[in-house]
Amino acid sequence: MTSLDTLAVHAGRADLGALGVHALPLDLSTTNPLPSIDAGGESYESMATGGHPGEGGMVYQRLWNPTVARFEDALADLEHTEAAVAFSTGMAAVTGSVLAAVAEGAGRHVVAVRPLYGGTDHLLASGMLGVETTYCAPHEVAGAVRPDTCLVVLETPANPTLELVDLDAVVTAAGGVPVLVDNTFATPVLQNPADHGAALVLHSATKYLGGHGDAMGGVVACSAEWAAALRRVRAVTGALLHPMGAYLLHRGLATLPLRVRAQQDGAGKVAAWLASHPAVREVRWPGLAECDPLGLVGRQQRGPGAMLAFRVEGGYAAASRVTESVRLFTHAVSLGGVDSLIQHPAALTHRPVAADAKPDADVLRLSIGLEDPEDLCADLGRALGACEAAELGGEV
Ligand SMILES: *Cc1c(COP(=O)(O)O)cnc(C)c1O
Repeated sequence: MTSLDTLAVHAGRADLGALGVHALPLDLSTTNPLPSIDAGGESYESMATGGHPGEGGMVYQRLWNPTVARFEDALADLEHTEAAVAFSTGMAAVTGSVLAAVAEGAGRHVVAVRPLYGGTDHLLASGMLGVETTYCAPHEVAGAVRPDTCLVVLETPANPTLELVDLDAVVTAAGGVPVLVDNTFATPVLQNPADHGAALVLHSATKYLGGHGDAMGGVVACSAEWAAALRRVRAVTGALLHPMGAYLLHRGLATLPLRVRAQQDGAGKVAAWLASHPAVREVRWPGLAECDPLGLVGRQQRGPGAMLAFRVEGGYAAASRVTESVRLFTHAVSLGGVDSLIQHPAALTHRPVAADAKPDADVLRLSIGLEDPEDLCADLGRALGACEAAELGGEV
């Protein structure tokens, strides 16, 4: 099998030579000339029911776009699946997956393993998609599955506290019910859930795949059969990835392995530094033995990744001061880009999560970028020092 580093550079580019171009072509056409009513109509029918364009061409961008299709082919190769289907955002991909599972499955019940990204948790709890959701821990999946369960949803590493879930165990516990794994944090560089039996492998492409904080997207890697179901939903509901986004995301894939490994190295250094800081109570990073009780790093996941979380001494007030005192880190939601970000999950990304499942108020989440880790530690040291100074000031 071609190595990941080579695939990341070459995947999804098979037709470029024949087109006589070297860089990815960006096709922005919203509509396409039709050769005849018959051929156009047949092609339309094929795509609207989840298939590929026929003799009649691509017809309309909501049904098919070649720039988007190339990104999808690349992602499928990286995730070891037959196909992939791209959406306008990660949340559109989650929505599309749930709707496809309802259309294909036995009922309208979803089992969701917590913790999950706040938006996913909120969407499933809202009842907006007409599904009933049972939330549970990984070891409770078998008991939560019912005859009308159409999907099991999980994340590993999970947002925001980096819990790891044993994919083989959950797929077995799901007993034939399709399992959707949000692989946003690990990326295909570190983990391929389809190799462990996940039916749907989802990414918020907005994060590591693009990697530069300038393109939104979502993508689901899966079998050809699931891809047809997802394309049907996408054609009808309209959440197609914009070709400009697909172009940027596909370009980002070439450097994905390099970025993820370098960011992961930096995260290891920052995690070790934080763990020895007196103002830090607990560090959560899958590379620390206590964060990987099942030994999944090395077995299921090829590395711990570049996301980490920590508890700051002094609770919400201290966390708030840290976010306001950093200068190199940007205080912002999102993750996976070349520059480092810090955010408070309970107040922001996980704000809509039910109170009993919300992250604690002293938790801060870091996305480590490509800066020199020593500069990042110096920035955090200054910010944590600012907390200590404020506390001392308060006592005087
Ligand atoms: C950001 C994120 C999403 C949602 O993706 P958007 O592109 O913001 O819609 C889903 N899952 C995880 C783990 C995320 O971090």
